[in-house]
Amino acid sequence: MPEFQTSPGMRDILPPDSARWRQFQSVFAGVVESAGYGEIMPPLMEDLGVFQRIGDATDVVTKEMYDFTDKGDRHVALRPEQTASVCRAFAQHRPPTPWKVFYAGPNFRYEKPQRGRYRQFDQVGIEVLGADDPYLDVEVISLGWEFYEKLGLQRVELLLNSLGEPEDRARYVAALETYFRDNIASLTPESRITLEKNPLRVLDSKREGDAGIVSGAPRIADFYSEGAAAHFAAVQQGLTDLNIPYTIDTKLVRGLDYYRHTTFEYIGQTLDSAQNALGGGGRYDGLVASLGGPDTHGIGFALGLDRTLLACDDEGVFAAPDPSVDVFVVDSTGGRQALRITAELRNAGFSVDRAFENRSMKSQMKAADRSGASVALIIGSNELEAGTIVVRPMRGAVDVNRQREVPRGDMISEVTKALIVAVKEASA
Ligand code: AMP
Repeated sequence: MPEFQTSPGMRDILPPDSARWRQFQSVFAGVVESAGYGEIMPPLMEDLGVFQRIGDATDVVTKEMYDFTDKGDRHVALRPEQTASVCRAFAQHRPPTPWKVFYAGPNFRYEKPQRGRYRQFDQVGIEVLGADDPYLDVEVISLGWEFYEKLGLQRVELLLNSLGEPEDRARYVAALETYFRDNIASLTPESRITLEKNPLRVLDSKREGDAGIVSGAPRIADFYSEGAAAHFAAVQQGLTDLNIPYTIDTKLVRGLDYYRHTTFEYIGQTLDSAQNALGGGGRYDGLVASLGGPDTHGIGFALGLDRTLLACDDEGVFAAPDPSVDVFVVDSTGGRQALRITAELRNAGFSVDRAFENRSMKSQMKAADRSGASVALIIGSNELEAGTIVVRPMRGAVDVNRQREVPRGDMISEVTKALIVAVKEASA
């Protein structure tokens, strides 16, 4: 064992897996950029206070923050999520509204590491600041949905709820609190603590011991004002217009104190129920103002990479991209020819690898095999003298009789031909 290993909950993402991560981000960027979202890259670290504005009823803020004092005596934290940073950036830069942004990258939470739960983990997400329109809620929700479709996932369920207007929510929270206090003996000790901080969060409890009491709790739908009911109806109508199926889940409250109106979650139906939320989001007010900006409406979502990839594995979709190159150059004359040939081919747009250290022909051919290249280009002293090069197909029926010695000047066109044949054979 080497002296140093990654810390608990932290991982090296190695090739070829890393290519899948990048592809994940680029599929996401493709979906949201085509809807007018631009990328924001907030810093990994902010003043602790930025994240504390998320509210003090979430473990993310109270227990899991990587915070420390820097050399300038500032109390800072690694970001546990990115919504707060986006709102801080909006308050700082005051861009024109609606401000539609997306992000992709790592967050940090000091959690107990387990399958699908890490201390450094990647999310992609979008936020829209400065617009209050139910059809925007539909746009946001539909983009997450479209992303999962693009990955090839089919077993995703969309859960939907509305928390109503802040006043509706306040009346509801009061009713919930009364209900839970009247039944406090039936709550788990953990939920009793949560009740003190935020009665809404008790609804989030996935603990067996709370199931009975939670299922009998008052329902938010009975507290909607007319405006809230109309907003929620328009969201549902819009989703139906776009043929996006959803399930209303009145217990879906999400933690943030600033949430109002629409909340939603995407559930991976193949995953264990304790950890099956692929991502989620909602509409919020007040976060920008709490960070020193104007009163601003916001809506967004964050989707976790790890659980989504687990769901992809379960459904057998979105495999890691093929890391192989088009061409592998084998040079038994010392390596300088390979240097020139690879440069020429790469300039022409091919992906090309080669062997180093002037290994034996046999060892270089093995490397060519391992590289997954469709075509090997072989040059030895005979070819060098004759001004030729050997083109050998590496896939399908590998057979020396299929290799051809061609003039060096025809290399690019011959490689192109050989690759076309390889693609045809692969799809036959
Ligand atoms: P949240 O920001 O807590 O609403 O989480 C949104 C999504 O991010 C979740 O549904 C998970 O897919 C993912 N996620 C949250 N925390 C972690 C973690 N510690 N490790 C991996 N993924 C996470």
